[in-house]
Amino acid sequence: MAEMFYDDDADLSVIQGRRVAVIGYGSQGHAHALNLRDSGVDVRVGLAAGSASRPKAEAEGLRVLDVADAVREADLVVILTPDQVQRGVYAEHIAPNLADGAALLFGHGFNIRFGYIKPPAGSDVLMVAPKGPGHIVRREFVDGRGVPVLLAVEQDASGAAWDLAKSYGKAIGGLRAGGIRTTFTEETETDLFGEQAVLCGGASQLVMYGFETLVEAGYQPEVAYFECLHELKLIVDLMIEGGIAKQRWSVSDTAEYGDYVSGPRVIDPHVKENMKAVLADIRNGSFAQRFIDDQDAGAPEFTALREKGAQHPIEATGRELRKLMAWVDTDRDADYTEGSA
Ligand code: NDP
Ligand code: MG
Ligand code: MG
Repeated sequence: MAEMFYDDDADLSVIQGRRVAVIGYGSQGHAHALNLRDSGVDVRVGLAAGSASRPKAEAEGLRVLDVADAVREADLVVILTPDQVQRGVYAEHIAPNLADGAALLFGHGFNIRFGYIKPPAGSDVLMVAPKGPGHIVRREFVDGRGVPVLLAVEQDASGAAWDLAKSYGKAIGGLRAGGIRTTFTEETETDLFGEQAVLCGGASQLVMYGFETLVEAGYQPEVAYFECLHELKLIVDLMIEGGIAKQRWSVSDTAEYGDYVSGPRVIDPHVKENMKAVLADIRNGSFAQRFIDDQDAGAPEFTALREKGAQHPIEATGRELRKLMAWVDTDRDADYTEGSA
């Protein structure tokens, strides 16, 4: 059984005694910075000169500095820029300005696991990785709840790195829900696998194939959209509440029988073999290298794939249909515009 931490297991005064620099003010960065501030932590935000995020952070009353200056002031540096730029930001702006013994904290283990960042031996290296998007991390905190977090310590130079990780997890609201003890390796590999095989890659492809199959057979795209995309949320909500069993309990006996009979036909054992191959590419570093090499080249593959995804007919159908759904709050996240990623 995993080791769990809750608010009572952590001492908020540990993080309240630190000078924290949050580098990046995007999905996770804004949530961490604001939750830390609201938990009474001395926090500043580090951004590149001319950063588009700067006015957003300043509008919240946060102190915003260039990355180098924020790092110089800090004894805990939280690296929340996109994974693909962390190596460059670290080498150029963080490492040369990092005080002796200052700790480094990550929201995902990618750059440590694959060796793109090699911290000094005297630094504590921690991870507090929320198991949810940054906007939910902030929204839940404001509502008095929290998103569960994974906690890990890669280097414990001070001997007190776990106390710091738990205190930070409490300050961003994660320990209200619960923290699970893990390692950088386990978090990185399972996170990449989950998003590739199931949550993003697997679910998106399943929805698109379902939609295509119905439309190619002559059914109306609007009906296909409801069946294959919209209703997915209702099913997933039931799974979150009570596992796969609750989903099967709620649907009709017809649907439940179809689940047993046709699920393994659609997602057959080959899919599990494919998943194992995806996991192998994650573990041997070839996925990481392909991603970073493409990013370093200006992201030609990534950009082409993103454009291809946006052209799928399900997006045009959804755009029209969502106008009819007054109950779907399409404007809830003000930063999101369709076509951005
Ligand atoms: P975002 O893409 O949202 O981060 C964007 C922010 O980083 C912006 O403020 C941007 O500034 C800034 N930034 C980009 N490049 C630089 C740079 N060269 N120098 C300084 N700042 C820069 O990242 P996420 O929040 O998605 O991810 C951050 C970390 O959290 C990653 O390690 C990710 O794996 C992890 N994570 C993310 C989750 C999520 O919900 N998205 C969930 C769990 C973990 P500007 O406005 O100038 O572009
Ligand atoms: Mg991820
Ligand atoms: Mg139905």
